[in-house]
Amino acid sequence: MTSLPKSQENARKLGLVIDLDTCVGCHACAVNCKEWNTGGHYAPLPDYDPYGKEPDGVWFNRIHSYEAGSASESKTVNFPRSCLHCEQPQCVTVCPTGASYKRAEDGIVLVNTDICIGCKLCSWACPYGAREFDEDKGVMKKCTLCIDRIYNETLPEAEREPACVATCPSRARHFGDLGDPNSDVSKLVAERGGVDLMPELGYKPTNKYLPPRKSTIPSKPLENSTSDGGNALLRLLDRVLSR
Ligand code: SF4
Ligand code: SF4
Ligand code: SF4
Repeated sequence: MTSLPKSQENARKLGLVIDLDTCVGCHACAVNCKEWNTGGHYAPLPDYDPYGKEPDGVWFNRIHSYEAGSASESKTVNFPRSCLHCEQPQCVTVCPTGASYKRAEDGIVLVNTDICIGCKLCSWACPYGAREFDEDKGVMKKCTLCIDRIYNETLPEAEREPACVATCPSRARHFGDLGDPNSDVSKLVAERGGVDLMPELGYKPTNKYLPPRKSTIPSKPLENSTSDGGNALLRLLDRVLSR
């Protein structure tokens, strides 16, 4: 695997912590993300056939819901998916024009759409399905971690957080510096046993997921599982993302 130079293994790692225990799958984060970014950094975010039988479009944040467990005892699992701003993002190293890049100062992975040639190599290199192709413009787009909110001094300080975090009604989304062990998000990850998605691939995602608390895990193990529900859930998500 090609690695980024040491100089880009920055100390500041801005990212999200998403609580799979409290996410209710309401899609508010996805909608507010779309709304903000339709007027933002990569604007507009197109929709294709929005009122047709198979509506599609560019969404930086997508929510997937699954039934986990057995037929007699199941649990709905809601899984929000967006760019994880990986520390070793192969979406960046495969890009032939340098359009995909990772910022040294805060670790945010972005696309310079002025020099993107729309080859889609980056989307093939992303195992998390986090790249979004704009068919109208012929360029790749993706989550920016709302760089036009988090550094926006025209917004009140309390609103300088990603749109998805600001809107989540169950406070399942948290934003902060995961490179600082004393930040609130790092403490939350430590307390709740937050995990990387598909760590075996070596992309070192910055974003972390918090597994469901024990009390909410189905008493029966998930199908094809002999272990506890939290780990089984993460394996389930791994399988879903591998499809
Ligand atoms: S999640 Fe995908 S698009 Fe985002 S940094 Fe990682 S490899 Fe790149
Ligand atoms: S689609 Fe654009 S950003 Fe992605 S690899 Fe090709 S040139 Fe780079
Ligand atoms: S807004 Fe919060 S609760 Fe709703 S889908 Fe997004 S993360 Fe889950």
